[in-house]
Amino acid sequence: MAIKSYNSSQSDFIKMSFQCECGEILDTGLMPVCDLRQNNREGYSFTYDKSIECSKCHKKYPIHFYDDDVISYCEIPSLANDDSIISLHEIPYEYAYKSNTMYVDFIQEIRKAQQIIDSIENLDTENQQVLFRMALSYIISIMDAYLGDTFRYYVEKYEKFKEQYEIGRKKSKEQFRSLKTINEQSFQNINKTVKLYQLAFNIELSGNQLIQDAAQKRNRIIHHSSRDEDGYEILITASELKDLLAEIESYVKTVGQKIIDVVYEEIIIGNRPNNEQ
Ligand SMILES: [Zn+2]
Repeated sequence: MAIKSYNSSQSDFIKMSFQCECGEILDTGLMPVCDLRQNNREGYSFTYDKSIECSKCHKKYPIHFYDDDVISYCEIPSLANDDSIISLHEIPYEYAYKSNTMYVDFIQEIRKAQQIIDSIENLDTENQQVLFRMALSYIISIMDAYLGDTFRYYVEKYEKFKEQYEIGRKKSKEQFRSLKTINEQSFQNINKTVKLYQLAFNIELSGNQLIQDAAQKRNRIIHHSSRDEDGYEILITASELKDLLAEIESYVKTVGQKIIDVVYEEIIIGNRPNNEQ
């Protein structure tokens, strides 16, 4: 069994690499150290389990973390000894804390929206449509808030991302027409959001037709008296809204993970003096 301890009071994520029996080097990716930290950690404990499969020999390695107010360690039971663990990187608290906070806020809003949809379902049909339309707007604005806050936070915090964004913005001004400044941006249009994130953070995100269509519907509701391009009234169902919530939750989770990964690679590793592991 291989065990490695870390300092959880100062980190939010850890990332390990270790050597498989077959010789292949495996990487765990970023793993959360504990849930969003409260001020009082006394008596608090956190466990997290993950399994990594070797891409070469397909051996599976369960990984177990334990973290409380006294000790924090990570163990890999099927590894022979501690020497097989090659590196353990801690992501300092300040890098991920804010993004975790924004994510937790987002999840709370998503759960609220789920409850709202459930309660609207119990109303009579006429009022239902009006409220479903409002719920759609609300859901899109939850996503807009998270994607916008996250974008602005990291672009304003790190010069590197700001520079990349400004350079991209100037280029696209000539090529495509104007891109707005950071504070003027809206993040409701997923195809455009994908482009903004790519400019600033150099990460690849996929578009999402379901979210894109919902955002367009929201525009028709707000700006065109709930009528589509042909003048027909837009009707919304509870299941459509539930699917949208699930889609947005999963999409935002992917974005959040990619941002943490890029902050880790570009800022934490990128700023380290050479040769330091
Ligand atoms: Zn292997």
